[in-house]
Amino acid sequence: MVQPVEPEFEQALNELTSTLQPFLKANPEYQRALEVVQLPERVIQFRVIWEDDQGKLRVNRGYRVQYNSALGPYKGGLRLHPTVNLSILKFLGFEQTFKNALTGLSMGGGKGGSDFDPKGKSDAEIRRFCQAFMQELFRHIGKDTDVPAGDIGVGGREIGYLFGAYRKLRNEWTGVLTGKGNDWGGSPIRPEATGYGLVYYVNHMIEKSCSQYAFSNPSTLVAISGSGNVAQYAALKIITLGGTVLSLSDSHGSIIAPKGLTCEDVKQIMALKLRGGTLAELSQSTGKNKNCKPGPSWTYHAGKRPWTLLERVHVVLPCATQNEVSGEEAEFLVKSGARIVAEGSNMGCTQAAIDVFEASRVKGGSNAVWYAPGKASNCGGVAVSGLEMAQNSQRMTWTSEEVDSKLNKIMTDCYNTCYAVGEKWSADTPAAKNVLPSLVTGANIAGFIKVA
Ligand code: GLU
Repeated sequence: MVQPVEPEFEQALNELTSTLQPFLKANPEYQRALEVVQLPERVIQFRVIWEDDQGKLRVNRGYRVQYNSALGPYKGGLRLHPTVNLSILKFLGFEQTFKNALTGLSMGGGKGGSDFDPKGKSDAEIRRFCQAFMQELFRHIGKDTDVPAGDIGVGGREIGYLFGAYRKLRNEWTGVLTGKGNDWGGSPIRPEATGYGLVYYVNHMIEKSCSQYAFSNPSTLVAISGSGNVAQYAALKIITLGGTVLSLSDSHGSIIAPKGLTCEDVKQIMALKLRGGTLAELSQSTGKNKNCKPGPSWTYHAGKRPWTLLERVHVVLPCATQNEVSGEEAEFLVKSGARIVAEGSNMGCTQAAIDVFEASRVKGGSNAVWYAPGKASNCGGVAVSGLEMAQNSQRMTWTSEEVDSKLNKIMTDCYNTCYAVGEKWSADTPAAKNVLPSLVTGANIAGFIKVA
């Protein structure tokens, strides 16, 4: 089922199948469903021709992987990044299928995007690319067929251009994309949802395994990677609750704030990212934000991820991209005192890193690390996308409070499901050993059963 060179897809498939084994042994009739579910229902590839600011025609590859529609319309983001290829989109669509199942909402799984690099492009170039991309995509999507949204490189601005193009091409207003602006059908809390949802999920993990590290405790040390939408809102939420956020990063390097970032720091970084800046620019300023705690509040580390730059850490939230924690970095994090690792990114941890965390969990004791995979801990984003679809169908908008409380409930239900199913099927955690259940096993088996 794996095509010759599809390393990311192969990794995601192996991660799922390896944890399904105890369940499949007891329920062999599900074996056939596993064979079926690993094939995408449909893969669409197309050419995107757009015009740059010099009037030259440029060409990129466009894709939409319609993975599985057993539970509802295909649903999942569009990624614009030069690394985008079919292996990456197949892994993302595959993960999305089980993630969406874990939200409890009626959504199938899909993913799409292009190898177009938005970095350094003008606003007009982004607009022309999005319009050209939709010129091809529009015939394959629809509010009850396939509902794309944002992912890396696609935020509110891009969704706006894509939505405008769809509306013109089809001459109809339908909730065909989520992550729209508030004035034209977007849901409150959608930009915040993945980061907030991650925090709600982790709150339960902390409560169960290490309540001394509640986010309301300023001595709870949190490492976050990334500085996009997920990292930004996870950081803001944790700082607001009272926890100490030690780091953020981008593809060029990391900032480390030993005394913790403030909300003002994070807002400054949000503004920087909105205008396409890099964290390296902050190294000039040494973080002398008037609202910061005294002294330079951060240091910049070019070419490094945060994981090995911290002496002490309790909660680790990879929120950048896939495979952003290696086995060695995982070992380092265990030694630095990490107790919780939960992914805001999709497949943020390599298999080697997951093995390190899971071994620590099975060993048990007061230093055990508990790991949550992205398909569970970051499902809040797509969950609020599902709520946006529901609001669009009703032609009405709920309040922020309503959406936030529904998000909180979805994350609580998702955690409870992962915990209960993990407890039932983790081959390595007999209750007598008093070891926490595997949330990877729980998420994978619960998602799989629903889709199967
Ligand atoms: N790209 C996000 C994810 O990985 C959100 C997808 C959506 O809202 O459809 O879950």
